[in-house]
Amino acid sequence: MAWGHDHTDKTAENAQQAFLKQLKQTFASLPNEIPIFLFSQRGKEDVFVDASRQVIRAFRGLTDKITLKEFNLDHELAAKWHVDSSPTLLIDPDHYNIRWIGAPMGEEGRSFLEAMLLMGARKSGLSDQSLKVMERLEEARNIKIFVSPTCPYCPQQVVNGLKAAIERPELVSLEIIDIQCRPDLAEQYAAHSVPQAFANDILIGQGAQQEEVFVSSLLKLEAQTIFIPERTEKVVETDVVIIGGGPAGLTAGIYTERSGLRTAVIERDALGGQVALTPIVENYPGFTQVGGKTLVDIMVSHALQYVQIFQGEEVLDIKPGQPMEVLTTRRKFLTKTILLATGATHRQLGVPGEQQFSGRGVSYCATCDGPLFKGRKVIVVGGGNSAVTEALYLKHTGASVSIVHRRDKLRAQDVLANQLEINGIPVVWNTEVKGIDGKQRVQKVKLWNNETGEISEMAVDGVFIAVGYEPAVGLAEKIGVALNEDGYIWHDSLHRTSVPGIYSAGDVEGGYKQIVTATGQGAAAAMTIFEDLINPYWKNEEQFRKTDVQSSPQVQPIGAIR
Ligand code: NAP
Repeated sequence: MAWGHDHTDKTAENAQQAFLKQLKQTFASLPNEIPIFLFSQRGKEDVFVDASRQVIRAFRGLTDKITLKEFNLDHELAAKWHVDSSPTLLIDPDHYNIRWIGAPMGEEGRSFLEAMLLMGARKSGLSDQSLKVMERLEEARNIKIFVSPTCPYCPQQVVNGLKAAIERPELVSLEIIDIQCRPDLAEQYAAHSVPQAFANDILIGQGAQQEEVFVSSLLKLEAQTIFIPERTEKVVETDVVIIGGGPAGLTAGIYTERSGLRTAVIERDALGGQVALTPIVENYPGFTQVGGKTLVDIMVSHALQYVQIFQGEEVLDIKPGQPMEVLTTRRKFLTKTILLATGATHRQLGVPGEQQFSGRGVSYCATCDGPLFKGRKVIVVGGGNSAVTEALYLKHTGASVSIVHRRDKLRAQDVLANQLEINGIPVVWNTEVKGIDGKQRVQKVKLWNNETGEISEMAVDGVFIAVGYEPAVGLAEKIGVALNEDGYIWHDSLHRTSVPGIYSAGDVEGGYKQIVTATGQGAAAAMTIFEDLINPYWKNEEQFRKTDVQSSPQVQPIGAIR
C-alpha cells in the first residue's frame, strides 16, 4: 500500500481536531469571563498589533468567554491603567495587573493560553511550596520578563510570573515584554538574552527558572539558584521514571506506557532538549525540513497522548531500594526502574569574559536571542553542525555574521557547510577566541591565529558559542552510575547502566548524538525495561553474571536496589 501526503495530513489534522476539542471543553469549564483590552497607537497598524488581533481571534474561536475591546493609546482607559506602549494587551485588568507589551506570537502563544486558563479559573496553580513563599511577600513587586517569540525557554518563565501575579494581585504586577517589539526597553535593561526577569528593576533570573526558585528570587529580590524543598506527601508511584524530556525520553515514555508500564517523564527545563534550540532540522526521516521546535511540539503532543510529563521539576536525589525513591523539587516518586535520558548541556569556551558577558552579548542559543542582534555584528564560534545552522539562522534574522573556527576544515556536514558560501557567511579559519571584552555588554573579542601566532581584536556585538556539548552526568555520578572514559554513561548493548534497574538513552550515552539515534535508543531502552520488569536480571544471580553489565568498570553488587 502506498502512503502519501494525504494519510500524514489526515493524521495531523485528526490530532489537531482532538486537541482543539479538548481545549474548547477546558475553556467551557472555566467559571469566569476573560476580558482582554488591546491598546494601540492611533494610525499605527504594525505587525505586532495585527498579530495580537489574530492570536486573540484564534482563541475567541474556541470560546465566547474571551471578549476583546480595542482602544487607542489616548483613550482615558489607557491613562487609567498607565498604558503607553503600542500594542499593549491587558487581561482582566479589574482583577489583575498583567500586561503583554508586543504580541503573544510564536512560543508566547503558549504563555498566552496558560494566562487565559489560569485567569479564567482565577487560580494561580502554584505548588504548595511556592504558595508558602508567596505568603511571606509583604511589599509590592513589579515583574518585567523579556521574551522573544522564538525562545522555547521563555514560556516557562512567563508562566512563573503569571502565577505569582495571579496569586498576589494586590502586590504583584507583571509585564511581558517582546524584545522584537521593544528593543529599546531590552537595551535599557541590558537584557541581551531571553528570558530575563526583573523585579522592581533588579535582575532576579536569567533563563527559565523552576517555579520555586523564581518565587524565592521574587521574594528576596535576588537571583536564587537553588530551592531546598520540604518533604511533600504527594507520592507518585510508577514502574518507570524517565529523567529528561528530550527525544530519547519522550520516545521511551511512549514505548513504556504502550507496554502497560506506569511511567513519569521528569524534565527540569524546556521539553525537547537541544532539538528545541535547533533552528532547522533536515535529517529526521519523514520531514525534509522542519523547525527543531516544531518537531519537538509534535513529539511532545504525541507523548502526552500516553505519558504524564512533569516539567519544571528537577531531580535532586535518588535513593536505592525496591522501589527506588526519586526526589524532585516538587514531590517524591517511587519507582521500580529509572531511565537516565538527561542529554547534554552546551560546552563553554572557558575564556575570560565568557561568564561575565553571558546574557550581555554572549549567547548559547541563536533561536532565543537572535532577534536582539538584527543589524548587528556577531560571530559564531565552532565548526560543527550547530555552528553552521546557528550562523545561517542569525544571517536570516538580519545579523552580520561570521564563523570563527579553530581548524582549517569544518566538522559540519557538507550539505550545511555549502550553505555558508551560498549565504555569504565568511569563516575565520585557524582562529581561537581568547577573550571577550566590553563595558556594559560585549564590544570586542580577542582572536589568536594558531598558525601564524598573530593576535588581533575584532569589534562585535554578540558572540554565539556553539562548540559542542558536555553530557549531563551530574545526577548519574551522584548515584554511582559508572561513566566511560569519555565521560558518558557506561551502558551495555541493552542500555542497562552499571546500577541494576537504572538505564540510559540519548546524548548522555555519547555516540552519534542525532535526533534519530536518540529516539532509537529511547525505544530500545524502553523495550529492555519492559523485558527486565517481567524477568528482572538482577534478581537472578546466574543471568546477572551473563549480562555485559558485569563488564562495567564499577558495577554495583546484586541487590543494590532491592
Ligand atoms: P560538534 O559536532 O561536537 O562540533 C563542535 C565544534 O566546536 C567543532 O567544530 C569543534 O572543533 C569546536 N570546538 C570544540 N571545543 C572548542 C573550543 N574549546 N574552542 C573552539 N572550538 C571548539 O558539536 P555540535 O555542532 O554542537 O553538534 C553536536 C551533535 O549534534 C553532532 O552530532 C551534530 O551532528 C548534531 N547536530 C545536528 C544538526 C543537524 O543535523 N541539523 C544540527 C546541530 C547539531 P573541531 O572541529 O576542531 O573539533
